[in-house]
Amino acid sequence: MLSPQVIRRAPKVLLHDHLDGGLRPATIVELADEIGYGALPTRDPEALGAWFRRGADRKSLELYLEMFTHTVALLQRRDAIVRVAAECAEDLAADGVVYAEVRYAPELSTEGGLSMDEVVEANLEGFRVGMAQAAAAGHPIVMRMLVTAMRQFSRSVEVAQLAVRHRDEGVVGFDTAGPEAGYRPTKYLDAFEYVRHENFHVTIHAGESFGLPSIWEALQFCGAERLGHGVRIVDDITRTPDGAIHLGRLAAFVRDRRVPLELCPTSNVHTGATATFAEHPIELLRRLRFRVTLNTDNRLMSGVSLSSEFAAMEAAFGIGLDEMEWLTLNAAKSAFAPFDERLRLIATIVKPGYAALRAEGSAVVA
Ligand SMILES: [Zn+2]
Repeated sequence: MLSPQVIRRAPKVLLHDHLDGGLRPATIVELADEIGYGALPTRDPEALGAWFRRGADRKSLELYLEMFTHTVALLQRRDAIVRVAAECAEDLAADGVVYAEVRYAPELSTEGGLSMDEVVEANLEGFRVGMAQAAAAGHPIVMRMLVTAMRQFSRSVEVAQLAVRHRDEGVVGFDTAGPEAGYRPTKYLDAFEYVRHENFHVTIHAGESFGLPSIWEALQFCGAERLGHGVRIVDDITRTPDGAIHLGRLAAFVRDRRVPLELCPTSNVHTGATATFAEHPIELLRRLRFRVTLNTDNRLMSGVSLSSEFAAMEAAFGIGLDEMEWLTLNAAKSAFAPFDERLRLIATIVKPGYAALRAEGSAVVA
């Protein structure tokens, strides 16, 4: 049995979280006041958080994405981006996350006159500030950035070059996101080819609301090392009448090659990709030993933290500390940080952290 305290204290690794989906409601109110943004229904942080959750939970990826117009509108100034990125680091650290790759699409923050380079620099500066504050508060965290290109715009090559340009300052990979229908990964082939030719990392939002073709293209044409969601890989898994499980060619490839799946169950429930948490394919994929990782996607929109996602896993599927450590090791192994950094993370933070919690548990039982 995993208590909320144990879950929060256990070291966690987060690979799929959007900066513009994780603002604190109180910060939204303050940033909106500063620029006179009038499209919020309330100035009460708690009611505002609930409003975002209701807006996101409409069983449609397109409606879910609509809610981001409000957060993105507030991220048009350098100081706002620095603040939001710093608070992101502090909030994740307080939740027991020890390493996080948080993504943002710089194209979204250029309406106030910032260049895309300035947006990335502000984001990274915020991470540095937040990491320092988290360390001072006794919760050290490593924050890295993924630079996302939005599928509905056509600047993907420019964004890919931007990501590579900032690789030595904390950007560890390139991603594409946004509506899936009508925007297959191969539309952006030149951007992915550029990134691969630069020996840089690629993760792609694929197989979230759209099925197997987007996963296939992401892996076999675009060189995705990880799949953002990738949950629709279950469409290639069948159960025969005698109860045996059969993997199709693509599902077998994903499992054989240990392709990390950045699964975000609550977000999938809100976008309508899955009916309920308990029916989410994460449990089947975990039992079949796919390289499953557990993620938040959008902490504000979905009203979650990484700890609350683990608590939901415990409630729905009865996972314990061993399964939690396995999911965390999967994420640590799949991070885009260099190999020696990943080893250090696993050997000096993740494994000792779980061993200590296990020892505490047996001491209580004894
Ligand atoms: Zn996402």
